[in-house]
Amino acid sequence: MSDPTPLDLQAILDDIYRDLTPRLGEGKVADYIPQLARVNPRRFGMAVVTVDGAVHMVGDAEVPFSIQSISKVFTLTLALGKHGENIWKRVGREPSGSAFNSIVQLEHEHGIPRNPFINAGAIAITDLVLAGHTPKEAIGEIVRFMRYLADEDDILIDNEVARSEAATGYRNFALANFMRSFGKLDHPVEHVLGVYFHQCALAMSCRQLAKAGLFLAASGKVPLSGHSVVSRQRARRINALMLTCGHYDGSGEFAYKVGLPGKSGVGGGILVAAPGKASVAVWSPGLNHNGNSLLGSLALEMLANRTGWSVFGA
Ligand code: GLN
Repeated sequence: MSDPTPLDLQAILDDIYRDLTPRLGEGKVADYIPQLARVNPRRFGMAVVTVDGAVHMVGDAEVPFSIQSISKVFTLTLALGKHGENIWKRVGREPSGSAFNSIVQLEHEHGIPRNPFINAGAIAITDLVLAGHTPKEAIGEIVRFMRYLADEDDILIDNEVARSEAATGYRNFALANFMRSFGKLDHPVEHVLGVYFHQCALAMSCRQLAKAGLFLAASGKVPLSGHSVVSRQRARRINALMLTCGHYDGSGEFAYKVGLPGKSGVGGGILVAAPGKASVAVWSPGLNHNGNSLLGSLALEMLANRTGWSVFGA
C-alpha cells in the first residue's frame, strides 16, 4: 500500500524544533574531554537528506561540532574495505550491555571487544585502518573519506579537541594497552590512539554528516553520483550493527523508541539511516546517562513517529 501524501519534512523539522526549544540545555555536556565542556549546551541542529538528494535543515544544522564516536561508523567502513570479513577475528558483533569505555568485559573476553562501536572495538578497528600506513597517512585517509562522502572539501579535524582528548584519555590508553597485552593490536598504542583521537575530533555539521551517511540509507551508493561506497549487503550489515550496538547500553532503548540504525557520539551528535528514505543527523550537546544526546534522541523519536520510517514498520 503506498502513501499518496508526500511528507512535508521541513514542516516536521520545524515542529520538532519548536517543541524542543523550551527544553534546550537539558542533559549533561561531556566534560571528561575538557575541550568538549566548552560547547554551548543550548545548541540544537538537525538535517535530513533524502535519497533523492533533497536537504532539509533546522536550527544550528550548519555549525560544525565534534563528531566523536560517530566516526566509528566510517572507520568501520574503511576497515571492511581494506580487510573484508577478516576484521571479525579482532572484534565481535554483539551488543555490549555496558558503558562505551568499559574495561571489565575486555578482560573476560581476552582482548576481543564486543563490537566495533564501543571504544575498545573502535580502537581495534583503527589499528586495522593503520595497516601499511603511518598515523599521519591514516588520519589523512579518514579525512579524505569524509570529504568524499560529504562532497565537501572544508571538513577539518579540530586539533584542540584531539589534543585535549590525548591529554586526558587515561581510559582509552588503559583499553589499548590491555588489548596490546593480549597481542590484539598490531601497532604501538601511541600510534593507534593518535589516529583514534583525531578521527573523534573531526568537526562536521549536521548537514555534512547526514550527507556523509547517505550511502547507508541508499544500499551502499552515493545516490546522486551513483558511486558505490560499499555493496548493498555491506550497507545492510553496517546498519544492523548500528541498530544493535550504536548507542552502547542504550541501544535497546533507542531501537524501541526510534527504530532506526543510529550512531551517537559524546559531542551530542547522532547519525541515523532510514533505509531507502533518508540520512538524518541531529546535534544537541546535553547527554543522557548512557552518554547519548538526550534531546537528539527525543528529536529522532519525534521524527520517526511523524514519518513512519522505523525499520520495524510504520
Ligand atoms: N572520543 C571519545 C572517547 O574515546 C568517544 C566516545 C564517544 O563518543 N562515546 O572517549
